[in-house]
Amino acid sequence: MPGAAATYDLGKLHGGLRLDARKSQATGLPIQSPPLPDQLVLPLEQHVGDPAQPLVGIGERVLKGQLLAESPGTLGAPVHASSSGKVVAIGPWPVAGRRGDTAPCIVIECDGDDQAVESWEEPIPYAELPGDTVLRKILQGGIVGLGGAVYPTAQKLMQAVSCDLDYIILNGAECEPYISCDDMLMRERAHDVVGGAQILLRALELDHAFIVVESDKPEAIQQLATAMTEVGDERLSLKQIPTIYPSGGEDQLVQLVTNREVPSGGLPTDIGCLVQNVGTAVAIHDWLNNREPLISRITTITGDGIANPMNVRARIGTTIDDIARFAGGYTKSARHLVIGGPMTGKSVSTDRVPLVKATNCILVMSDVPAAGPELPCIRCGDCAAVCPVRLLPQQLFWYACADDETQLRDHGLTDCIECGCCDLVCPSHIPLTYDFRMAKARIRELDDEKARAERARRRFEARNERLQREQREREVELARQKDQARKAGPDAIAEIMKRRRRDDGD
Ligand code: SF4
Ligand code: SF4
Repeated sequence: MPGAAATYDLGKLHGGLRLDARKSQATGLPIQSPPLPDQLVLPLEQHVGDPAQPLVGIGERVLKGQLLAESPGTLGAPVHASSSGKVVAIGPWPVAGRRGDTAPCIVIECDGDDQAVESWEEPIPYAELPGDTVLRKILQGGIVGLGGAVYPTAQKLMQAVSCDLDYIILNGAECEPYISCDDMLMRERAHDVVGGAQILLRALELDHAFIVVESDKPEAIQQLATAMTEVGDERLSLKQIPTIYPSGGEDQLVQLVTNREVPSGGLPTDIGCLVQNVGTAVAIHDWLNNREPLISRITTITGDGIANPMNVRARIGTTIDDIARFAGGYTKSARHLVIGGPMTGKSVSTDRVPLVKATNCILVMSDVPAAGPELPCIRCGDCAAVCPVRLLPQQLFWYACADDETQLRDHGLTDCIECGCCDLVCPSHIPLTYDFRMAKARIRELDDEKARAERARRRFEARNERLQREQREREVELARQKDQARKAGPDAIAEIMKRRRRDDGD
């Protein structure tokens, strides 16, 4: 029955850890809205693909929702202005990025009017449109996966269309400690989560969606159950899963809900499932219904180093210092700033980095427990016992130290989801996840190099082929002209030879 939060015949998740959640410190207040900042910093790399290309120049006035930059490749997403104001700079700025500590950004000095572009209020009638048209509309909203992967949503959906899909799974399993933005979103906007699920069903022309929540979020479960009962859509089911880290990983979630296992190197779509974060579903809902592109997001600001932990809905591009100030500022003991959660987040050295589409948490810690000196591996096997992907981290560590790319691939390094479980249990304090991240980056570089070499080889072969073809065509033409000249007499032959010398550049 829709709306009934029921337990389910859950597939068994290998490994994982029960962690101290520490979420309640930020869930005491409703989602707060910080005031408009004086300045917005919008990175051109908020997606997995190449940076977007700016469409505006310095000095130009822009409106809220205006398209500022477009992405050249299929893995990119457009960037929109989060408020109205003047573009004052386009250039490098500190970021908590995957590719480095700075990235090209568009900086807007806000004028405080928050004036939106004209089309702001015109909803898209998605219910009357065919699925592929809905997908094209979603593409324009600049929406990327808000669970952290930042894969462009429209692209993911378009790739899924060609797969044999059974289910959409909306991921509300926010399993990493401290982070509670999805929990608060589900509590406060349950109807929009349900609406987002219905849009996805429409876009992909499917008949079944699961909304999946961990059992430690009773308020969210209650709100979703009520919303689903009110909507009464038989295609939607609400599922509870146990609170185990990292049950929110895509592959782990699919296994928990459907008992299907994503093959090594494969995707959930290979086994009939498409996973989207609940925040992404609401972003799609907001874009199609309210014509609001992805210009704000809910993020958790929390930790012992922040005075009033809370969840805020802030404009993309707001710098972390502005959000921290709104949350009461830093405590005297604040020492360490992490963008993301404690297991998968990235430490940054400045709070001038902006909030981006992927920022689900700003964690200010008073203390980072010392890891202890790194000792030799004692082959205890604890790391393998907790690995949710069934890898052998101790073996991978050995191959990573030896830089053995072949063995790393053969032992499934690319399947590692960098969850950090192995680090946490290792009695020898070996920074396994860091080593795996570095090894994966090296493998990616090698793959890129190989791909570049392959592209160069193909270009060289294509050029040779073209030159040979042109040569053959010239010879055929010459033979034809000679034949014609033989029939016409000696003056015509002299004319052809002259023309040929001119063509050859003599
Ligand atoms: S970080 Fe990788 S190897 Fe370690 S437990 Fe997680 S998935 Fe397994
Ligand atoms: S947990 Fe640490 S010490 Fe134990 S096998 Fe794994 S890497 Fe070695």
